[in-house]
Amino acid sequence: MAMEPKKTPMPTQDPRERITNFREVALGYTPEDARREALRCLNCKNRPCVEGCPVNVNIPGFIQKIREGDLDGAYEVIAATSSLPAVCGRVCPQENQCEAKCAMGIKFEPVGIGRLERYVADHHNAASVPPRKASSNGCKVAVVGSGPSSLTCAGDLAKLGYDVTVFEALHAAGGVLVYGIPEFRLPKSIVAREVENLKALGVTVETNVVVGKTVTVDELFEEGFRAVFLGTGAGLPMFMNIPGENLVGVYSANEYLTRSNLMKAYREDSDTPIRKGGRVAVVGGGNVAMDAARTALRLGAEKVTIIYRRSEAELPARREEAEHAREEGVEFLYLANPVEILGYRNFEDPRDPKNGAVTGIRCTRMELGEPDERGRRVPRPIAGSEFHVPVDTVVIAIGTSPNPLIRSIVGGVQLNRRGGIVVTEEGATHRAGVYAGGDAVTGAATVISAMGAGKTAAAAIHRYLSE
Ligand code: FAD
Ligand code: SF4
Repeated sequence: MAMEPKKTPMPTQDPRERITNFREVALGYTPEDARREALRCLNCKNRPCVEGCPVNVNIPGFIQKIREGDLDGAYEVIAATSSLPAVCGRVCPQENQCEAKCAMGIKFEPVGIGRLERYVADHHNAASVPPRKASSNGCKVAVVGSGPSSLTCAGDLAKLGYDVTVFEALHAAGGVLVYGIPEFRLPKSIVAREVENLKALGVTVETNVVVGKTVTVDELFEEGFRAVFLGTGAGLPMFMNIPGENLVGVYSANEYLTRSNLMKAYREDSDTPIRKGGRVAVVGGGNVAMDAARTALRLGAEKVTIIYRRSEAELPARREEAEHAREEGVEFLYLANPVEILGYRNFEDPRDPKNGAVTGIRCTRMELGEPDERGRRVPRPIAGSEFHVPVDTVVIAIGTSPNPLIRSIVGGVQLNRRGGIVVTEEGATHRAGVYAGGDAVTGAATVISAMGAGKTAAAAIHRYLSE
């Protein structure tokens, strides 16, 4: 049979339809799509795709099971190494990981590994019964935060019989999976299901608990917790430090997305205020910027422009997200950098309610110089190239860092100069019994790397408590 050169397309909601709702954009493979895509896999002996996966999922192994029609078996193969496959199948940057290494990609399009992973996970979630609780070993472990690093760490320890309690500052568990990534990319019912599965394993989830304020790590130890995992993420937004960032209508992407996702500001019946409509500029080029831009469209913006200081080739967002944004009508202004956010000022009437509202952004054109230490070409401003973009709302999505409040959570851990918690390869901090992982250690990264860190730390905590 001739080899299919292209990936089996993912069915999606029509772009004109989807910008009017928050439902999931990618609809998932049908059984025929999945079988067809699975048949493209060459079942390579040296398995380069597995090397490209940060948690080394046995990719040819699970694809083989799909070919055999054994979806439960396929799930078991994935679940042996990945604890959130329905999430990873949707949001992992596969084009830079497993699919970048896929042998099919040398001549043709790589196998749609992420799409197949999602297919298997969705089949499992639709059909399965919750996991069974392991018998308790009576040893208590506290997990701080409930993002993918914490969920993975908690799940692995619960399966080993530990009595795990997850403490989450917000009112819902899931970390960025619930407050950051929008419903149209990752339905919250999927995250809720993962949390329910953890509870079925015996994990206690306590929301609205800010560790460091409601309870300190020292108090957790006094209460009998024998180890603590810190998966507190990187929720502190960065700003550009340019004039006008305090004007009315300027948001950090974190605030904007939290208002929409967690506080449901997009719903008619929500009390959470958010600016809807008008012209919106989103500054940045990563997944967060794409999510904010696409959220703005769905909130009724007339025009949404992404302002990015490098060129299209350097966009850090997942390719699929940038494509979906383009299809939906988001405009991209490349090689441009804001230097000032402009606001309305009525000098004759200081009580004019429009005073202080955003009216535009002044930007400068950029050119790309030599690559930096990470291999990305450094943008440089072009003298005398300033121009003005009229907008009503600005969302800043240029990155986040670990919250320095971590110092108030726990004494005895060390932070690096970017605010990340310093850990060993096993995830151990400088304080005995305290482990950390995910964005709190690396700075803003990916779901799969956070999961990998949670897994490593769980194994290390088990060794520490078994000594
Ligand atoms: P987080 O998910 O950040 O969770 C940390 C949790 O800890 C939060 O719930 C926080 O409330 C809680 N917490 C913090 N301090 C305390 C405290 N003192 N007490 C109790 N709880 C506390 N990655 C991808 O791979 N693909 C994508 O497509 C993608 N898109 C993204 C889109 C957006 C909008 C954002 C913001 C990120 C995206 N990422 C994506 C990155 C990814 O979501 C993160 O790397 C990942 O969630 C990090 O997981 P984590 O467990 O370290 O922390
Ligand atoms: Fe299949 Fe690609 Fe992995 Fe080879 S590299 S086993 S073709 S998914």
